[in-house]
Amino acid sequence: MSMFKLEDSHWHKGLRKKMVETLRRKGISDERVLAAMEVVPRHFFLDSALAHLAYEDQALPIECEQTISQPYTVAFQTQLLQVEKRQRILEVGTGSGYQAAILGALGARVFTVERHKALHQHSKELLAAMKLRNVRCYWGDGYKGLPEFAPFDRIIVTAAAAEVPQSLLEQLKPGGFLVIPVGDPVQKMLRVTREADGSFTEERFGSFRFVPFLKGKA
Ligand code: SAH
Repeated sequence: MSMFKLEDSHWHKGLRKKMVETLRRKGISDERVLAAMEVVPRHFFLDSALAHLAYEDQALPIECEQTISQPYTVAFQTQLLQVEKRQRILEVGTGSGYQAAILGALGARVFTVERHKALHQHSKELLAAMKLRNVRCYWGDGYKGLPEFAPFDRIIVTAAAAEVPQSLLEQLKPGGFLVIPVGDPVQKMLRVTREADGSFTEERFGSFRFVPFLKGKA
């Protein structure tokens, strides 16, 4: 991927407003989530050859045969997370860094982990250039979480899991949530809450399609 040009314009802002209207029409109602999606330039996170598609509501290819999630999916997962300012959030699957930037724009302290070194490096440089200082990027196996920074108020997994990893549940604070797509070939969006007494409750939301959650560093 070439060096990014961080140029935002009135034209891009107009396209983002339209994207937000689309998300609203599709059922996203959390105003803070919609506002974050309106400020973060998604075209920064794409190869320049695909930048013209940045504000269509679709997933797009990024490096290492991965994808940047569809804006609707990012909004849906973020809405389920109910992010509050200064919360500690773990994201598994940094990819392009876009979802991490949205969480950062909501004022959370974000710890994001990616197994592909190239994606990790690229998103880290981009988020630093965007001055999102509350987002920290790590290269590693997110299946294990980031125990050195646990516990977290919220955990979001942005790759398709076969099951809910026990290690991630262990890194949740009491009262915290984990949002994770589980299943193959289609995933159900699960929100698992760690109750004050240490037990877990599970809610299920719509169906999605993600790239696989793989074990180990690439
Ligand atoms: N949140 C990303 C979506 C990227 S797709 C975005 O906004 O662009 C999911 C990402 O999860 C891929 O980059 C993939 O490499 C990564 N991934 C899959 N298994 C992983 C694991 N065990 N640890 C860390 N990252 C993983």
